[in-house]
Amino acid sequence: MTETVVPSVPVAQPTREPGRLWHTFCDMNTVRKGPEFTVARAEGVWLWDEAGDRYLDGTASLWYCNVGHGRPEIAEAVHRQMLTLDAYTVYGDFANAPAVRLSERLAAHAPVSDPRVILTCGGGESIDTAAKLARRYHAVSGAPDKVHLISRTGGYHGLNGFGTSVIGMERFRTGFGPLVEDVSVVPHDSAAALEAEILRVGPGRVAAFFAEPVIGAGGVYAPPQGYFAEVSRICQRYGVLFIVDSVICGFARLGDWFGIERFGARPDMIVFAKGVSSGYLPLGGVVVSGRVAEPFWYQDDHPFLHGTTYAGHPTACAAAMANLDILEREDLFTVSLEVERQLDGALRSLADHPLVSQVRSGTGVMAAVELTEEALAERGITTAEVFAEARMRGVILRAVPTALLISPPLIITWEQIDHLVSTLAGALDAVAARH
Ligand code: PMP
Repeated sequence: MTETVVPSVPVAQPTREPGRLWHTFCDMNTVRKGPEFTVARAEGVWLWDEAGDRYLDGTASLWYCNVGHGRPEIAEAVHRQMLTLDAYTVYGDFANAPAVRLSERLAAHAPVSDPRVILTCGGGESIDTAAKLARRYHAVSGAPDKVHLISRTGGYHGLNGFGTSVIGMERFRTGFGPLVEDVSVVPHDSAAALEAEILRVGPGRVAAFFAEPVIGAGGVYAPPQGYFAEVSRICQRYGVLFIVDSVICGFARLGDWFGIERFGARPDMIVFAKGVSSGYLPLGGVVVSGRVAEPFWYQDDHPFLHGTTYAGHPTACAAAMANLDILEREDLFTVSLEVERQLDGALRSLADHPLVSQVRSGTGVMAAVELTEEALAERGITTAEVFAEARMRGVILRAVPTALLISPPLIITWEQIDHLVSTLAGALDAVAARH
């Protein structure tokens, strides 16, 4: 399915003027002055713009297209489901077969005791669901003061109300007025810092701790050895719910189902999205341990009064089931470990580049190429410039303030990895030559 021939000449940038689409996560005042980059078509690891030029999707869109683009069997599953039952709510006692089957399948693989599954439409919505559930769990368990939420520096948990409040990147929290209260952030690499913060706030006040297995949007930081085992023990000791945000790391990006298995932890909740459907339709959710579910499932007068219109959407669930079929049939769990090694090996060649201070890779099919202080602060080089140069050369990366991020579909071949890395090297050279 995947072509392996790579473009040898720089491709032109598309020229369509921005219209009325307000792009997400961007400075529209900048976007409106230039052409929009209109993606017209995609297959495997490749995208085409409206001019017909081809690009390697080095980010799997926004970390989500794990099985690659253009899979007919997902499209067919969606088509069949649409003709059977397009959509119906799971409010109250309503259910539908795809939502039930997907929940069973996820529960069967989740490293969570006696799991239950809440379905949502994405990651940020799931974070808000988990945060509210954590607070409600303590409230109905006789500890209503346990409301404080702790997260980590660099942690990204979506931009809904609770997500914006617990995010570990200050720039996304400011300018919106008062956010959710009773939150704090600890250094991402220290279990001792988490314990100290729980003791500072008071264990009787702390509801939950949020952590990504490998920090994604915050710059790709893997945990130190033994970190999650220690974090699990600390959370248990103080009755703090341990909530893993596997939105990026799940569904084989780290070689397992929920991105936390390789670190040996069993959380109280796991938040998932993205790779569960490879983004073919929007879907996310929360796997909840039986202990946390217990008061809501087995005691009277404790409904969890939370949910959204499209939760458990049967067609989105059918897309996810077809996506999981591909992950299992093609054993992308094992394949991704090999891709992880290949990407890590190929990126080593960049470690000596004069613009690069650090390459972070080797835990999952995700990587960051960090630019030096000197390049950023003294030479005035921006990651946006490297991003634009790489895109002009036919490779899509993601720029965050100090690094370029890489997270291709898990079906990427060795030749395509080589193309991605050599194109990035060429882009870095070109940018260096300009400054
Ligand atoms: N958590 C993590 C770790 C994420 O990376 C993201 C999105 N990039 C989210 C939550 C939010 O997901 P969504 O954009 O679907 O709301």
